[in-house]
Amino acid sequence: MKHKLIIFLLSFLIIGLFGGCGSPESSGEEDKLSVVATIFPAYDWTRSILGEEGGDAELTLLLDNGVDLHSYQPSMEDIVKISDCDLLIYVGGESDAWVSDALDNATNKNMKVVSLLDVLGDAAKVEPDTEDERDEHVWLSLKNAEVFCNVIAGALGELAPEHADAYMSNASAYIEELSALDSEYRETVDQATRKTVLFGDRFPFRYLTEDYGLSYFAAFEGCSAETEASFETISSLAHTVDELGLPCVLTTENAEKGIAETIIQNTTAKNQKILILDSLQSVTLDDAEEGVTYLSVMEQNLFVLKEALN
Ligand SMILES: [Zn+2]
Repeated sequence: MKHKLIIFLLSFLIIGLFGGCGSPESSGEEDKLSVVATIFPAYDWTRSILGEEGGDAELTLLLDNGVDLHSYQPSMEDIVKISDCDLLIYVGGESDAWVSDALDNATNKNMKVVSLLDVLGDAAKVEPDTEDERDEHVWLSLKNAEVFCNVIAGALGELAPEHADAYMSNASAYIEELSALDSEYRETVDQATRKTVLFGDRFPFRYLTEDYGLSYFAAFEGCSAETEASFETISSLAHTVDELGLPCVLTTENAEKGIAETIIQNTTAKNQKILILDSLQSVTLDDAEEGVTYLSVMEQNLFVLKEALN
């Protein structure tokens, strides 16, 4: 289905280019670096790495309207943007396979492409219950983020050697912040009463929980499209809340609270809180412009985790 859409969109693109409808680039933008990131975390890392020198670059967030990676449908404008940018950063998994299709038709042959999953290589996690489907939520590990920032800074430096030193030093400063927050997570988990989180929802947080040795229970693995949990699932999760004396049931951002509420109603105490851990899958460009950053969300998540584990 998605593939058909791409071919459809590309045929318009080609007609646009050869039919004289393409808008000519203004000469001022010719040497401006064009960077496209599909997901918000990569956009935000790149923004930090570009820093002051970023005035020379045009940075675009593709998934900018709050629709997550798994449901996003590219527009014709997106395909055009991808086909002639200088640096493209995407996840490289099942959900954004359409990006690879767009790359096959790229007009900029010197384009650099960073696939986050490829950067991780063997360190990428495999979705439970699948043979080889890689877990796409790679940004939910601060340690991964450090690796990605180095790679992005390197790619930017090759594209604009005159700014390479600045990009590297911006990246180092940012990585220090990531690393400090990672230590805070480590300390929080080390000092916590409990080492288990329980989600009445989907569970995109394996990279995060495995970084700190936390166990998890969830209604659904990964970002399953399922929305109905069986009675067995609900009652087993409620039993786990009772058994471990968990103070809260977690959900992801924008989730329906129904499953979490039903779990709580099936516990003995029925007084657990519902808390939200943000998986950064629905940050909009407006949010970003209003000051939401990868670090601010991950800091807020640490705050939530502290309450969930104590
Ligand atoms: Zn997801």
